[in-house]
This record gives sequence, structure tokens and C-alpha cells, in this order.
Amino acid sequence: MSDIRAHEIMVPTSQPDDARLHFIGRIHTPWTDRKDCPRQGKQDGPECRIEIFEPWVPALKGIEIFDQIEVLYWLDKSRRDLVVQNPGHSDRTYGTFALRSPVRPNPIGTVGAKLVKVEGSALIVRGLDCLDGTPLLDLKPDRCAFTPKAPPKD
Ligand code: SAM
Repeated sequence: MSDIRAHEIMVPTSQPDDARLHFIGRIHTPWTDRKDCPRQGKQDGPECRIEIFEPWVPALKGIEIFDQIEVLYWLDKSRRDLVVQNPGHSDRTYGTFALRSPVRPNPIGTVGAKLVKVEGSALIVRGLDCLDGTPLLDLKPDRCAFTPKAPPKD
């Protein structure tokens, strides 16, 4: 990983081996190349499919009452060793924590997505901005919407 842009700063990093995460699903989107992928998802973007793996399928129970959900995913194709970056859309450099770049020490992406429908063990959503096949880390109801009106019936 040595092809960095002018003025970017790379640091030596250890191979992370703690705080292991479980991938709980996979995200299917129309984008297979980063250059085609939106920089931030749009609520009127294309329908995408979030596939949930067992044993986490029962964790979807009740999610259908929410219009908006937060999707957390692992930007698995990202490098993780830049502290200063030179974004392609800018002629300035910025610290990694001043950017929403996928290049981060722990490449977690988040979006607020519109929940279109639940289809068995999958969710159909709009508003994503990740590559096809991106691993899913977690789903949460949108924090503003999180006041379940009625508990889901068993
Ligand atoms: N919405 C998220 C956030 O703000 O945390 C991610 C924003 S990031 C700027 C979105 C970009 O990450 C996409 O345009 C694409 O270039 C890149 N990207 C998408 N999926 C990726 C993946 N699986 N691995 C690495 N980079 C990815």
C-alpha cells in the first residue's frame, strides 16, 4: 500500500487483531467500482438489498415499523493507514477525522437508509453508498424515530 497522493501522510500501523467484529450480513448494491459509487447515499437512490445471515435473522423482528434505519458496514476495500488525506475532489489536505472518507483506521461506514420493505431475511432499502458485497456490521432504528409506538406482537 504505497500509492498515496501528494501531501498525504502514512503511518506504520500494526495488524489489528483485537475487537473482532462479526459480519452479520452482506449488502447488495448496483456498484462494483468505487468510481461509480455515490460519495453519500441519497434517499431517492436505487433499491439495494441487505441480506442478513443466520443466526441473526430473528433480530429483524419489529424493524418493519421504522421508515428510517441506520446501516453500519465495513468498508472492506479501504486502506487504513492514512492520517492526512488529499481527497480526489479537493486541492487541500485534511486530517482523516475531518473527512468521511472510507480510508480510516477502522473503516466503518454509516448511512441513514429508507426502509422500503422486509423480504424474509433481507431488507430492501434506499440511500446506500457502498460497493456490492460490502459486509454488514449492524442495523439500528434511526435515532429520531426510535420510539416504538406499539411493541411488536408475538
Ligand atoms: N456514508 C458512509 C459514511 O459517511 O460513513 C460512507 C461514505 S464513503 C465517502 C463512500 C465511498 O466509499 C464510496 O463512494 C466508495 O468510493 C467507497 N466505498 C464504498 N464501499 C466500499 C467498500 N466496501 N470498501 C472500500 N470503499 C468503499
